[in-house]
Amino acid sequence: MTERYAVIGNPIAHSRSPAIHAQFARQTGQDISYERLLAPLDGFVATVDAFRAAGGRGLNVTVPFKLQAFDYAQRRSARAQAAGAVNTLAFDADGVFGDNTDGVGMVRDISGRLGVSLAGCRVLLAGAGGAARGVLLPLLEAGVASLLIANRTAKRALELAAHAGDSRVRGCGFDALGRERRVTPFDLLVNATSAGLDDAAPPVPDACYRGARLAYDMVYGPRPTLFMRRAAELGCERVSDGLGMLVEQAAESFHLWRGVRPATAPVLQRLRAEIAGA
Ligand code: NAP
Repeated sequence: MTERYAVIGNPIAHSRSPAIHAQFARQTGQDISYERLLAPLDGFVATVDAFRAAGGRGLNVTVPFKLQAFDYAQRRSARAQAAGAVNTLAFDADGVFGDNTDGVGMVRDISGRLGVSLAGCRVLLAGAGGAARGVLLPLLEAGVASLLIANRTAKRALELAAHAGDSRVRGCGFDALGRERRVTPFDLLVNATSAGLDDAAPPVPDACYRGARLAYDMVYGPRPTLFMRRAAELGCERVSDGLGMLVEQAAESFHLWRGVRPATAPVLQRLRAEIAGA
């Protein structure tokens, strides 16, 4: 019998998740349906309750409901616990399980597809919102040597660094970065701010980009973001947007729900072509 899954958010019409999961299902022979679920801003719990009552087996959760999904879950993975946010819900006889696959998705994209080893990496993470929280534990588990969180609101970076509870992690405002660069160069720059959505870049000083092996922007689109363009101009060896992260986090959700791991490369290739032609 066809089992139901969906992505829930507000807005949701733009979501690429149904196309990604349809390809995973075809590829692995899984009999599932996957739809978009628009929840009213004050109606997350009621919408999820109704989806479950109708036999729904799992949900991906996107803006602005990841914190509510965390509260909705009765059991959570360690990475969801560390992130304080849930992007995947699974419903079974034991109740509601919450996971966060964003961070592991980015780590897989960087270390797998891009072939950049994270062990020993000195990382600059720009941003201290939900996406930054999600990548913190997976980056630490991948063995990074140091992780400096820089954010427009410095207080949030300091709070997130304290929350990590790991001596490799520190936080600061962007204005302090010039001073930091004299102390430590970076191997990997990750843009986890939403600045790229307005074709802006976080105010990272030029010196931080120089000599980095990879500049990774979580935002994706038909063209390289300003952050990626700056990084390339300033001599970063490689640049990437976050489309691969999107596909990898979806694959991790699919694996959690169905117990099989789809191949991500052909799905990413097709999505890239669709986005370029859009
Ligand atoms: P969020 O919780 O709203 O956090 C936004 C972050 O961006 C905050 O740190 C904020 O700083 C910062 N920011 C916003 N505008 C800025 C600007 N003009 N200059 C500098 N910093 C700015 O959002 P989120 O959930 O973390 O998502 C961040 C981005 O990651 C979004 O663009 C999202 O689409 C993307 N994302 C991609 C994937 C993927 O699969 N590729 C997955 C998750 C998220 P303040 O704290 O000072 O406000």
